[in-house]
Amino acid sequence: MPPHAGPIANVSSSPYAPKYTDSLSRLTNWSIIESTLREGEQFANAFFDTAKKIEIAKALDDFGVEYIEITSPAASEQSRLDCIAIANLGLKAKILTHVRCHMDDARIACETGVDGLDVVIGTSSYLREFSHGKDMERIIKDATEVINYVKSKGLEVRFSSEDSFRSDLVDLLNLYKAVDQLGVNRVGIADTVGCANPRQVYDLVKTLRSVLKPTTDIECHFHNDTGCATANAYAALEAGATHIDTSVLGIGERNGITPIGNLIARMFTVDPDYVASKYKLHQLRDLENLIADAVEIQVPFNNCITGYCAFTHKAGIHAKAILNNPATYEILKPEVFGMTRYVSIGHRLTGWNAVKNRAEQLGLALSDDDLKAITGKIKKLADIKNQSMEDVDGLLRNFHAYKVAGDHSAIEQLLVLPKAAAAAATPEAVAA
Ligand SMILES: [Zn+2]
Repeated sequence: MPPHAGPIANVSSSPYAPKYTDSLSRLTNWSIIESTLREGEQFANAFFDTAKKIEIAKALDDFGVEYIEITSPAASEQSRLDCIAIANLGLKAKILTHVRCHMDDARIACETGVDGLDVVIGTSSYLREFSHGKDMERIIKDATEVINYVKSKGLEVRFSSEDSFRSDLVDLLNLYKAVDQLGVNRVGIADTVGCANPRQVYDLVKTLRSVLKPTTDIECHFHNDTGCATANAYAALEAGATHIDTSVLGIGERNGITPIGNLIARMFTVDPDYVASKYKLHQLRDLENLIADAVEIQVPFNNCITGYCAFTHKAGIHAKAILNNPATYEILKPEVFGMTRYVSIGHRLTGWNAVKNRAEQLGLALSDDDLKAITGKIKKLADIKNQSMEDVDGLLRNFHAYKVAGDHSAIEQLLVLPKAAAAAATPEAVAA
């Protein structure tokens, strides 16, 4: 049984779930469209050869994503061959490719063996004027031709506008109503430029939900230019969206889109069992490392779940509570994700409860008074510079050894600040 299996928390008792859920809310019934192999290819550093694309596709599939979106086969000959290779891997995840609303692209894509097409066209005044130059009538005409063609091939089809939040609302709704009547599986909203905020997202998704057939799904794609991509995804699900586009570590055009790890963290707080039943959470770190290596970046220090300090507790008052009950300062459980909690103790904000916990880990029997004295020494030393875990362990072990030997003068010596350190702490030393 994998470590994430089994009940993790009772949804109804999750303190982080919304108290009053929206009647259309999909917070506990949503899917990921993983776009590392499409949006992620647009990341500045990205270059995936065929072998790497296959490795990534298999890792995403194994993690449990419902859909994998890959670059348009119309982009280049190698892209087309890679699309065929991935579509024929026999993965559990459905394979989608992302194409322009154009018959030439649709024909090529339908021959690759993918499960569906994500069709996109720009609808903002910017794109209509400065990119493809088509008016809304022409956009609907082209969409009709492409959608009918894809459906005639028996494939899934999503139709999305591009730059949706800077498009005219009446135009958008007319377009979506038209494609809904044609029988698309999903319509898509894309915050292509990262301008949307959660409230705008909620309003647009809710409005869109009210004009579509109840069986038509809503996919959302959020760029992260102002740091809202994960919050926007959450707002979209609250309003009734069904599918969220992600990429691993958020890689994509400019600073990318909703990172899969962030979305997992956010949604885990609402319904841990649901999230854990869908995805192999203990594989998230490996998945992120795979992508980080492939595009030669580091996993950010403040990454949700896997950032190196995501489960590091420092302040003494936090450490005490964390040791008594981790839920005091942790809403996510590190062990569910194969991570470990770390209580940082070699610094001047430390507290004796954290030091006591470390002594217990080392199997050293010390009294509370001993531990308070040692904590005082750590704080003095750490006023000059942070102490490593080895430094702290050395102090604890030496104190314990002297105590066992009954060597009180050695203990006194140990607790005195060394001359050099004391000098370094004085203003004169700083001036010199
Ligand atoms: Zn994008």
